Amino acid sequence: MIYFGTRASNIGNFDIPNSKCSYCEQSNTQRVSVFGKYAHIFWIPIFPIGKKAVAECMHCKRTIEQKEFDPELKKLYKENKGKAKRPFWHWLGLGLFGLLVAFTTIVGITSEKDPRSDLLTADEELMITNPTMESDSISYKIKQLFDNFATEEIDPSEFKYLTKISGDKALILVQIPKLRKVEKEGRTQALDIVKMITDNQQAFEGKDLYIGIKGFISMILIKTPTYEANSRLASTSELYEFYGQKPESQK
Ligand SMILES: [Zn+2]
Repeated sequence: MIYFGTRASNIGNFDIPNSKCSYCEQSNTQRVSVFGKYAHIFWIPIFPIGKKAVAECMHCKRTIEQKEFDPELKKLYKENKGKAKRPFWHWLGLGLFGLLVAFTTIVGITSEKDPRSDLLTADEELMITNPTMESDSISYKIKQLFDNFATEEIDPSEFKYLTKISGDKALILVQIPKLRKVEKEGRTQALDIVKMITDNQQAFEGKDLYIGIKGFISMILIKTPTYEANSRLASTSELYEFYGQKPESQK
């Protein structure tokens, strides 16, 4: 059930000077109460929709609605109704909606997806468990070391590898699905093993290295010319630089 409609709340009360009660004929006895109407959905005010006023004679207690005001009282009410100010919450719904729009716009701008993340994901999918000397000689050599040094606990036969050279940069990806089983301090040995190979390959001479060692799901060990991390919160985006500068936004 959707419940919506209008409600009103009292937004001001004031005496009307120089007024006269049309019933008891006393002067200066009219007190006006102003109500601000607003649209609501489930009792949450959305936006204001007009005011209504009621006048009460403080002497004879007769109350009349705005449509019953005589011309003189109408005029005096108009002169004074600015004293009744709406509280901000009559705009609550519209305000929240505006905030939501602003917020999603800001999030949309700041979190616009870096297209290089797709490139990295594509390369991660190219990692294989059995690189050969012909297909990827560097990965092959890294694998040989891991096969000899990695403990059975983390099962080196499950590791996946990929190396790529592009211009003056090189990307080395290794996936060790059970990396999280290794204590944090021990994990850096995986980086050391990779570096034993990369330090001794002519193909890597003078190249900027982007090394990413992934656990079951995410990058845990990352080493680039400007960044090094050993953490489940390692910033994968640091590897994007291998693919060059972030392309200019299309917006
Ligand atoms: Zn009266």
